[in-house]
Amino acid sequence: MKAWLSYDFNDMRMEDVPMPHAEPGWVVVKVRMLELSVTEVAEFRGLPVSSHANIKRMLAEKRPLQLWGHEFSGEVVEVGRGVTNVRLGDHVFYHRGVPCGTCKYCTAGYPQYCRSCINVAEDTPGCLAEFFAIPSSTIVAIPDAITDMEACAMQPLVSIMGTVEAARIEMGDTVVVIGQGPMGLDCMQVARTVGAGKVIAIARRNEVLSLSKRLGADITINTTEIDPVAAVMDITRGLGADVVFECAGGAKEQGHSGTDTMMQGLDMLRNEGKFVEIGYLP
Ligand SMILES: [Zn+2]
Repeated sequence: MKAWLSYDFNDMRMEDVPMPHAEPGWVVVKVRMLELSVTEVAEFRGLPVSSHANIKRMLAEKRPLQLWGHEFSGEVVEVGRGVTNVRLGDHVFYHRGVPCGTCKYCTAGYPQYCRSCINVAEDTPGCLAEFFAIPSSTIVAIPDAITDMEACAMQPLVSIMGTVEAARIEMGDTVVVIGQGPMGLDCMQVARTVGAGKVIAIARRNEVLSLSKRLGADITINTTEIDPVAAVMDITRGLGADVVFECAGGAKEQGHSGTDTMMQGLDMLRNEGKFVEIGYLP
């Protein structure tokens, strides 16, 4: 079978590799569709994003590696011993990494914060291949009515659902989402669904803001036209927003806002409001 193998940053080659097999607790998945995450593309280019140091170390120790590819729609074609959550032929997507189970977070019942999580497509083979092996606890079976395209997009959506849940939005809250990339658009829609009274989407491009509007934003603000802090204070009659999600921050050399939008988010927040940073701030 064919797989894309990474010899270094910016050096990926398609090669013939042996068919993977399912160890106990693992399954083999046939890839039906995949989408690359923005983070993976930055990692491939060697940019200093979240997992850069780990990948650099792994490539120094052994190469090539079957890196990247975790937003996939697949089908289970082999099931290892002890696997009970999925069956042969199931349509599956990637849900989350494997928490260590022993750290302070894991033992306190907050595995979502585990810092020693096994990350699929980084610590395990990625899905840029015809078939790949994956721990079964990281995948979830989904109905066939969910299309391959939707299944791929569900992985980032799951991350956002956990993030929005952590903010504990209350019925009627005014929620601001700064940045309307994939994560910001997901965040805006989930906030809408869990009971926000008013959702304000902030971005720099009218194209994306018209999409925000179509997907449920009550108010859109283009920061190239008006000051977003003044606009939010005006909309909330001087009170500020109840919840702000910041999805535009990050390294300026990668086209993000640095910490500028984080500061704006804090400036438009009401007293005792909740601020959630979603952008990766190195
Ligand atoms: Zn842990």
